[in-house]
Parts: sequence; structure tokens; C-alpha cells
Amino acid sequence: MSGACKIEVSGVTKCFKRNGKKVLALRETSLSVEEGRFATIIGPSGCGKSTLFNIIAGLLPPSTGEVSADGQSIVGKAGYVGYMLQKDMLLPWRTILDNIILGLEVRGVPRAQSVERALPLMEKYGLKGFDKHYPSELSGGMRQRAALLRTLLYDRDIILLDEPFGALDAQTRLAMQNWLLQIWRDFKKTVLFVTHDIDEAIYLSDDIYVFSSRPGRIKCKINVNLERPRKTEDMTSGKFMELKHHLLDLLVVKRAEEAEQA
Ligand code: ADP
Repeated sequence: MSGACKIEVSGVTKCFKRNGKKVLALRETSLSVEEGRFATIIGPSGCGKSTLFNIIAGLLPPSTGEVSADGQSIVGKAGYVGYMLQKDMLLPWRTILDNIILGLEVRGVPRAQSVERALPLMEKYGLKGFDKHYPSELSGGMRQRAALLRTLLYDRDIILLDEPFGALDAQTRLAMQNWLLQIWRDFKKTVLFVTHDIDEAIYLSDDIYVFSSRPGRIKCKINVNLERPRKTEDMTSGKFMELKHHLLDLLVVKRAEEAEQA
């Protein structure tokens, strides 16, 4: 990890037009993630997290502000970052292998070469023997594994993960968090992650950006100084609990006070 700034969001806002009225979805937002770090955005539903991700992914223009990666603007440049959503978006008519190599296929990589890269990854990361299966034959956790491997094979240094484990049961979710940390260690990507879940945010992240309710803005940035590699047992340590109380206070207690004052 070089400590160089990998991705920078400066003064980004987003205003939508709905039924002729302007709706401010995101107030002025600035954040930066250093190369190789795991940063998480946490905040209430509707605070603009997905809007911000769509802007970073180049799928949506910001109303104001700038997004840059590796020192150059990526506003409107779809494909510069890897992007994975809560819904796995696997194509039901393609096998798991053919789903995983989709990004390579789109980029014109010959099939034999793509398969040669994909199969060892499937083997190492829990999808051995599932290459010829179809998405409907896999559990939710397995489908998310396939979707993340597809995002990884797209070969981008920066990966955006928008609530990838939001629909999974608690136990599968824990297993997937450990799996993701292993992948992150192995591939050394810069990750920007969205979640509603306080434990998940602390367990995975180096930095947590706490968003206010809509229109969203960053309330504060928290540095998670827990040692790595992390283990599930760490979730009950004193340091973890301290961070959890702090986040609960920001997300629940202070929010209720703000709502009362509004
Ligand atoms: P989050 O991901 O934090 O739940 P979103 O980014 O999806 O929030 O949405 C933020 C706000 O912007 C919401 O109030 C939502 O209704 C609104 N919004 C999102 N996309 C559009 C759109 N295309 N047109 C109008 N309003 C939108």
C-alpha cells in the first residue's frame, strides 16, 4: 500500500428532477480513499449512497463537483471502476463460468484464455465444481461469490460494492465477510463499500464515512484501528464495542435528536 490517493470525490452534489420539482439527493460530499484501503459508507436508507456510487462509477453525472481516480477525472467514464450491486445481476441463461468471464468477453479476451484465468479463481474461492451450473441452482451466498469474482476478473484497481451482502442471512453474511477480506488481501484492491450494518462496517473497514439522512452529507469519518487480519471473535472485543457505540450514537441517537429539532 503506497498511501497515494487512489480515488477522490470533491464537492459532489446531486439534484434530481421529479415531477418538475427539484429533489436534492446528495449534499456537498468530499472523500478520498488511499490506494489499497477499504473504505465504507454507512447511512440511513435514501441518504444518497447509491447515487454517489453511480456518480463514481460514471453512470450518472454529478450536479456539481469532481470525481478523480489515479489523478484524472472519471466523471462520465463508465468502466474505470469495478461495480457490484446487492442484486447479483447474473445472467440466468449463462452458466456460472460464462457469467464470471462476461467482463473479459466484453473486452474481447479469447474464451480459452478467460476460462484459464477463471477456473483457478473459482477453485480457490469456493466455487469449485460449479462452473457448469446455472445461477438458479446456487444459494444466495454462492451467487454473490460468482458476482464478485466476475467484478474481480474485470481487472480494475478500484471496486465499488453496494450492499453486496444485504440480502443474505446472518450466518452466510459472516462467512461472506471473511471471504471478502481474504479476496481483498489477495488482490490488494482499493474498495469502497456501502452497508447499513454497523458490525459489518467495523469488521471490514479501515475507514468509515458516516452519512446523514437525506439529503445525504458526510457527518464524520472514523478510522478503524483494529489489527488485521481480523477474526469473527474480534466482533466482541472491547475496542470493537467502543467503535460500535460511537457509530450507534451517530446513526441512531444523534439522528433522533436531529429529527426532533427539525
Ligand atoms: P440510498 O442508496 O442511500 O438508499 P439513493 O441514492 O438510492 O439512496 O437515493 C437518494 C435519494 O434520491 C432518494 O430520495 C431517492 O428517491 C432519490 N433518487 C434516486 N435516484 C433518483 C432518480 N433517478 N430520480 C429522482 N430521485 C432519485
